[in-house]
Amino acid sequence: MLNSLQKLEIFADAAKYDASCASSGAAPRTADAKSIGSTAPGMGICHAYAPDVRCISLLKVLLTNYCMFDCHYCVSRVSSNVARARFSVKEVVDLTLGFYRRNMIEGLFLSSGIVRSPDETMEQVVAVARSLREEHGFRGYIHLKTIPDAAPELLAEAGRLADRLSINVELPQESDLARLALQKDGRRIRKAMANLRQRIDGAREDRKRSAKAPPFSTSQSTQMIVGADAATDATVLGTSETLYGSYGLSRVYYSAFSPIPDASKLLPLQAPPLMREHRLYQADWLLRYYGFNVPEIVTGTRDGMLDLQLDPKTAWALANRAQFPVDLNRAPREMLLRVPGLGVRVADRILAVRKRRGLHLEDLTRLCRSVKALLPFIVCTDWRPTKLADTANLRERLVPRATQLSLL
Ligand code: SF4
Repeated sequence: MLNSLQKLEIFADAAKYDASCASSGAAPRTADAKSIGSTAPGMGICHAYAPDVRCISLLKVLLTNYCMFDCHYCVSRVSSNVARARFSVKEVVDLTLGFYRRNMIEGLFLSSGIVRSPDETMEQVVAVARSLREEHGFRGYIHLKTIPDAAPELLAEAGRLADRLSINVELPQESDLARLALQKDGRRIRKAMANLRQRIDGAREDRKRSAKAPPFSTSQSTQMIVGADAATDATVLGTSETLYGSYGLSRVYYSAFSPIPDASKLLPLQAPPLMREHRLYQADWLLRYYGFNVPEIVTGTRDGMLDLQLDPKTAWALANRAQFPVDLNRAPREMLLRVPGLGVRVADRILAVRKRRGLHLEDLTRLCRSVKALLPFIVCTDWRPTKLADTANLRERLVPRATQLSLL
């Protein structure tokens, strides 16, 4: 019989193949005399970076890594030849409380393979959250990965107990899902996401009307595996744009496919470069906070794939040199946000400074990490690049230099 730590070891191995984990934007829960713990308001949790760059941890665990489904890309699939383990509800509750009391985590991210039926599995997932919240007064963060085919009442109960719910779309295109995950149905997954959106929006309205409205998960997210099929970055980002627009998702997570043991012949033998995942996150950020749309981000890319050497904003600027240099003393906020190296916070500070006086390079040295990177793209009171944005070798100058890894 395996003990909890041995089971955790097995699950940690399975977790290598699932990189999604986050929880930014959770509503705060504060402890009272009968409860323990709290979540910091608006922070990201679990090896994801919050807007303030703080990294917060969750206990990320599976109820079981056994699954009756046979999704080709998943190490937990029924035909996978790996060690299996299963936690009881009580074991997950005890582990969560144990780690939490030792200040090792700020919450739980619970997922599970499907055992016997989607409903039976979802009941177990919900039972963990219920025990934590109602028997132990747990006010830490809870993220539950839900099963789209489970009964709506169970998803509603999960929403009542969790800070965030997620339903994975798994792959960017429904046609690939149909090919690689025979028991899954892309339309059912999207229907479940639409239902969840309705409930989340409804609960938000109820809370506006009454502070006593019952709690419900404040957001939903999803995950896409990248590199298990032939979908290009343009396709991946197009799917994300649709998901954000249609289901009000707080995040789409990109998880680079990792070749699994005894993999199906339908899967690639090699993992995509990890940098691909990173570039997709950067492009996703441009979609959500910088006013870009997908055609802008991918225009000029080769075969619909993002440039691995340059971040997507710099790549866009190089492909649109006619729009530069940008006069920092006059440009609207939307254009400031398109300057490589200028983030949302710096753009807003520039707007505040220039209300009082002209902006000088010295101001930028206080506001930005690297003024040098901005110089080809900006004009300010005491700086104007002479042909810098037009130089043929600008790209070479902007590509970060490869650095020798330290052996120590
Ligand atoms: S349903 Fe989920 S856990 Fe089961 S095989 Fe598919 S991806 Fe893996």
